[in-house]
Amino acid sequence: MGGVAVDPRRAIPSVDTIAATVAELDPLLSTPVVIGEARKEIARVRAAIGSEAELPTEGQIAEAVATKVRLMLRNSPRQAVNATGIIIHTNLGRAPLSDEAIEAVSAASKGYSDLELDVETGTRGSRRAHIEETLQELTGAEAALVVNNNAAAVFLCLAGMAEGREVVVSRGEAVEIGGSFRIPEILSKSGATLVDVGTTNRTRVTDYANAAGPNTALFLKVHRSNFKIVGFAEEVGLRELCEAGRNKGVPVMNDLGSGTLIETASFGLEPEPTVQQSVADGVALTTFSGDKLLGGPQAGIIVGQREFVETVSKHPLARALRPDKMCLAALRANLLHYLRGEAVEKIPVWRMIAASSQVIEERARRWGEAVPKRLSWQIKPTESAVGGGSLPGETLPSWGLRLVPERESADSLALALRSADPPIVARIEDGAVLLDPRTVLERDEIGVVSALKSL
Ligand SMILES: *Cc1c(COP(=O)(O)O)cnc(C)c1O
Repeated sequence: MGGVAVDPRRAIPSVDTIAATVAELDPLLSTPVVIGEARKEIARVRAAIGSEAELPTEGQIAEAVATKVRLMLRNSPRQAVNATGIIIHTNLGRAPLSDEAIEAVSAASKGYSDLELDVETGTRGSRRAHIEETLQELTGAEAALVVNNNAAAVFLCLAGMAEGREVVVSRGEAVEIGGSFRIPEILSKSGATLVDVGTTNRTRVTDYANAAGPNTALFLKVHRSNFKIVGFAEEVGLRELCEAGRNKGVPVMNDLGSGTLIETASFGLEPEPTVQQSVADGVALTTFSGDKLLGGPQAGIIVGQREFVETVSKHPLARALRPDKMCLAALRANLLHYLRGEAVEKIPVWRMIAASSQVIEERARRWGEAVPKRLSWQIKPTESAVGGGSLPGETLPSWGLRLVPERESADSLALALRSADPPIVARIEDGAVLLDPRTVLERDEIGVVSALKSL
């Protein structure tokens, strides 16, 4: 037996010592959070004794605590730069708002607002009034209701119209939209019973009509947002389905998903069904998202025939799914761009769709000139996608800046860009990092150039 072994735990600094060192490192970090994080970090160091070669120094522990506390005290979600070329990118928050919509959110939320006050009469007003008339004007619908998101809109319509009754859906449209949104599950959770008709690839109007009985509440059509059926396929047109519905006394519900007010065909894209067309075809309830092709805040919009919108709005769930003042302010400001005929100039999603490939190429080249000598780069034709469950498989011709790593991997180059402030999110393609300027807002360009310079 040798001398007394020194317990390495005794060399670990105390919580107070670490907190004091952190406060010296950065006086802004002298908050109660530091104590908690110092405690956790010390416990981690203690637990790692024996498995890590050396004990970290007091300075290293303090740095680790400071880093954690800085992350904890940072705003989140925070701004990010989307250089992926996917315009409606769900992981990046979908649609960026127009300046006017941002201004409207700020004005409505800075202080009090007339959210439920009729300023003229001084009596209680309706939350719905802020949006309903605008939506009537834009879509031709008799009535409108806004909820939290489109998944909620679909759920509320089904619960309000079909609880305890049957809903007829084509087998080709009993789809999963993403994450946990699956039509058969939503239907059963809303208390309705799914009656699936037709086959995966072909459904005819007689399939719906033959399934209609005394307990049929709805014919439901669902936009196949994230896939296409090609080849020997047939689906029923809306007008035809609405006619069959009228004959059978069954209203038609149409979940458009993305829901556009603008014809996509004028931008070289496949025609996406418009909300106006759905209303004009005689659909009782049309649902769509606020933050896909509409280009506004997260919201679910229900437009349709008054009788059915009123039924749905009286369901107790409507209160649980109602939107807040920030959402309504942004949504209305966004809708006003359409009313003023300036949607393509003012709404970022549409500006991006409409951007000319020549302008995109020039931007990519300007960025390339900022890339340090040690990296090689090219300007290369590429394709942007609309994304967000609209126009599956459809792309827009674009240009990208391709960064070819030499010593490091494409992954570590992409990580370096994501570590910038704000983080820049790019694509990895063929072993290189690709930045598509189409989805980068003009005001974020300075950030991109400076991140490229410091690569
Ligand atoms: C995206 C989508 C939804 C869900 O809309 P959220 O706004 O994400 O809740 C529902 N149905 C269809 C067809 C969609 O494309």
